[in-house]
Amino acid sequence: IPAELFDWSQNAPSHLFYQTGGRRPFIERAEGVYIWDAQGRRFLDGSSGAMVSNIGHGNKRVLDAMRDQMNATTFGYRLHFENEPAERLASVLSKLSPQGLDRVFFASGGSEAVESCIKLARQYALAKGETKRTEVISRFPSYHGSTFGALAVTGYGPLNDPFAPMVREMPKIPAPRAYLDRDNSSDEARGLRYADMLRGKIEELGPENVLAFIMEPVGGASTGALVAPDSYYQRVRDICDDYGVLLIYDEVMTGVGRTGTFLAAEHWGQSPDIIALSKGLGAGYVPLGAMIARRDIVDPVVANGGFMHGYTYAGNPLACAAGLAVIREIYEQDLMANTARIGALLKSRLDNLTARFPFIGDVRGKGLLLAFELVANRETMTPLPKDANAFAKLVEYAYEEQLIIYSRRTHGGYEGDHFLVCPPMIATESHVDEIMEKLTKSLD
Ligand code: PMP
Repeated sequence: IPAELFDWSQNAPSHLFYQTGGRRPFIERAEGVYIWDAQGRRFLDGSSGAMVSNIGHGNKRVLDAMRDQMNATTFGYRLHFENEPAERLASVLSKLSPQGLDRVFFASGGSEAVESCIKLARQYALAKGETKRTEVISRFPSYHGSTFGALAVTGYGPLNDPFAPMVREMPKIPAPRAYLDRDNSSDEARGLRYADMLRGKIEELGPENVLAFIMEPVGGASTGALVAPDSYYQRVRDICDDYGVLLIYDEVMTGVGRTGTFLAAEHWGQSPDIIALSKGLGAGYVPLGAMIARRDIVDPVVANGGFMHGYTYAGNPLACAAGLAVIREIYEQDLMANTARIGALLKSRLDNLTARFPFIGDVRGKGLLLAFELVANRETMTPLPKDANAFAKLVEYAYEEQLIIYSRRTHGGYEGDHFLVCPPMIATESHVDEIMEKLTKSLD
């Protein structure tokens, strides 16, 4: 071993180049909802990382399942060998998906899962002889990932702009930010109005050119837990059916229990055609993503020469064994019910904050995918000026209180500061108390 090769100290300049601000403390260990840094400070993980660590950190049963798998094998290349954990996880995911969605394709993350959805949709159209269908409509703001394909359907200027011209940026319609509408129309009317923008966009592009519509059923990082009025979801499904446009749900953040049901789609009782999953599936234990698609979409593609797509690490036995153990744990501890219950409690406590802090403009979300937005004026929903830097400052104040929350400045027609409060699904009442105490101090 060359003498200097593995020399390293925390004080030496970092060779990692993606860090933007100052260097964060080093993570030392994590257990349940808590993370300790190298100085021994204990942080409450109020955002589950980036809404990832759904079942909490250091779950012993998941780690044991991983260790068992590691002792057998960690890798078998998918073109050479099948593996049992991948088969088992695909079986579980198809049983937890809407009727007819029973074909599973693995990836190693959310962007890869979204890429898979778009490429499957393209090949499906080809298999049907619909060669012109290439447009994938999405929404703004939205976030679907950082690879070029996923970025082309992402509606978030600062992330898109540096890469223009992209592979090809895709057409977008506004996300249904009904909470900003100051008119007197009903929630139902607003939902339908936003959904009908999809019809308008399809007509504008020419229905024969439109392949798919992709959306996050509950918005994530880009919108701050944006939930559309109920009427939106069925109307979007109907419009897609009217034009033969595939409906893709990006459930990378919402899936695997985060909103209180296994898939967020279940809240509205209708089914997309293809689903992307990731974050909560690996839950911080392994990089893992999945696409779940309708059998009658996949079968013609397979029959027509195969899906021309794949990732080296996809469906590896270690990642799949961990994913299986994560889902088992969700059932073992009844974590979806806990998410619904603790989510409702946390949301009502956040709602109560609006009485004390007039600058909280909106509180929203589902299950434990919750957020609040800061504004200069709640009546008019006038955002704070950008140079107030509220989204960065409040996160810093919370950090000082040893509470982790996740923030973004939104883009796309309205720029505001929102904050995601999304502890792991194992959170208890006392964790909610602790979050609220620290958050209130930070807001003060
Ligand atoms: N889609 C959504 C809705 C996401 O929230 C994310 C990650 N924030 C992605 C896709 C991309 O996932 P990854 O970072 O694992 O590639």
